[in-house]
Amino acid sequence: MSHKAFENVNRYFGRAAKVLQLTAQESMLLSTPARELRVECNVRMDDGTVETFIGFRVQHDNSRGPYKGGLRFHPTVDIDDVRALASLMTWKTAVVGIPFGGAKGGIAVDPQKLSQLELERLTRKFTQGIRELIGDMLDIPAPDVNTNAQVMAWLMDEYSKFYGFRPGVVTGKPVELFGSKGRDEATGRGVAIAIEEYLKTEQRGIAGTTFIVQGFGNVGSHAARILHEQGGIVVGIGDHTGSFYDPAGIDVPRALAHAREKRSLAGFEGLSSASDALLTQPCDVLVPAALGDVITPEVARALACKLVVEGANGPTTPEADEILQGRGIPVIPDIYANAGGVTVSYFEWAQNIQQFAWEYERVRDELDKVMRRSFAELAATAKKHRVDLRTAAFTMAIERVKLASQLRGY
Ligand code: GLU
Repeated sequence: MSHKAFENVNRYFGRAAKVLQLTAQESMLLSTPARELRVECNVRMDDGTVETFIGFRVQHDNSRGPYKGGLRFHPTVDIDDVRALASLMTWKTAVVGIPFGGAKGGIAVDPQKLSQLELERLTRKFTQGIRELIGDMLDIPAPDVNTNAQVMAWLMDEYSKFYGFRPGVVTGKPVELFGSKGRDEATGRGVAIAIEEYLKTEQRGIAGTTFIVQGFGNVGSHAARILHEQGGIVVGIGDHTGSFYDPAGIDVPRALAHAREKRSLAGFEGLSSASDALLTQPCDVLVPAALGDVITPEVARALACKLVVEGANGPTTPEADEILQGRGIPVIPDIYANAGGVTVSYFEWAQNIQQFAWEYERVRDELDKVMRRSFAELAATAKKHRVDLRTAAFTMAIERVKLASQLRGY
């Protein structure tokens, strides 16, 4: 995301604040993060040298429950970025009505340049740095860009050295280590449900609809798989190594098998190195599911889709969002579209606290309910205030957070 990331989130916040006629004081109070932590992580590298990495944890709001949000490892991570992502988590958990606030963590590092052991030492150092500010009733990290179940397992283990058995301190853990069935695919499945609900309003379905999915990590790969399973025609896929567009439809199972083995799409037959062109190819539904700020005004003017569904956090800049509104291309916003991940994180946390594991079917059904109920509320809010879906999502979320803060007495 850009150095304007937090400002961008607050522009979206501002659109909803106008609808709700918030005072300047109320807007300030609701948008300002509660706590920000910056930690130095000194890590012994495999060659014996020591390197310093900088990590952050921003806790944005906890009026509706413990702080909650992912942890990302990426070279572009900075405090502004993490602040923006923490704020998005506050609104996201409120949109889907789960009892959490919002937080985010990040470390400025390119994990591809580290060995597994170096990555483990870095994760443990970072956990030591933030350990006093996290906990199953305080702040619960989870996976995000370039982090996975293994990283969460290390985090849980490091935390347990200080505080004992507390598996609910982090979600997105391996199923073999207090994780939840269905957590891995949850964000992608939620994206597919969001799309299905939207298409229903146009008397259409996923079957026969064409999709481009940008990003083939946790979100994009599961979204592409589930859309394909439901009869959708995935015409474009891509990741940081390249992209592939075929109007006749891509062999998604083959792409998934390739990505599972090679850990990226690099070398996939037909892959071209020009990943930039993917977004603007023709399709019915475009799903950006990688990094922020990919739909710039220039891209927005060139898009050849009928609907944008934000699998990633913050993929559309506010300027681009206005262009899309002008062009009549609706956007299903991140704080609803990708909320399936944190929703199943909530189920994982609940299972950890109760020491009672759910079957996959139960997880899937409960996720389904949350996504569909939230869509109905979102659509009703958009209709009531005659606003776009993003403004409706922020409006719903801000109302809920404001009410909780008021009831507490700020
Ligand atoms: N990183 C994911 C997100 O942005 C999941 C967060 C979580 O499960 O706490 O929503």
